[in-house]
Amino acid sequence: MKAPLSLAAVFDRLLAAYGAQSWWPADSAFEVMIGAVLTQNTAWVNVEKALGRLRETVAFEADAIVALAPDVLAAAIRPAGYFNVKARRLQAFCAWLQAQGGIEGLAGRPTAALRTDMLAVHGVGPETADDMLLYALERPVFVVDAYTRRAFSRLGRISGDESYEEIRALFEEELPARTDLFKEYHALIVTHGKEVCRPRPRCEACCLRHDCQHGMGG
Ligand code: SF4
Repeated sequence: MKAPLSLAAVFDRLLAAYGAQSWWPADSAFEVMIGAVLTQNTAWVNVEKALGRLRETVAFEADAIVALAPDVLAAAIRPAGYFNVKARRLQAFCAWLQAQGGIEGLAGRPTAALRTDMLAVHGVGPETADDMLLYALERPVFVVDAYTRRAFSRLGRISGDESYEEIRALFEEELPARTDLFKEYHALIVTHGKEVCRPRPRCEACCLRHDCQHGMGG
């Protein structure tokens, strides 16, 4: 059996196959952060609708969102699903952000300590925190998601049973710590997972099929 591809080699193949994805689709770092909460357990198309309605309802600022009546906030973000839960999470996150002095107040804080603080905020799990750190705050933190776990276990790079932190460490240790690379890589994995390495994979159309344990029938 062939040795599994390096993470750098997988990146090169995905980039050649799909082209640059240039994520995250947002106008500001704050919008990235709000989107990272709203995108939990829902498709991005629903997040876009929720962001549009939220923008029509309230000024796009942490203090305005904190001050909004919870039921009004929940109604605004309804398209994102789990809207009562997400309204509570958004207000908790925005209150935390206010207490830090806003996004400017996060600048210069060491990434590991900042990540630990973010994970203590109600409703902020590892993927949400890492979305924010990478795409809003330009920190070299790799975002792991279900697409990552599925594709890289099929490729033979992981067993699939590893913890979030173990998979994140694998990517961060094997790749150069560059935010542009981490952003593009995560976006490419999402595209790959949606278009080709689906629950029922389209291996015949995959740029990795000759080096994939699953694709080769392994
Ligand atoms: S060959 Fe198949 S299983 Fe392997 S990465 Fe490609 S689509 Fe996924």
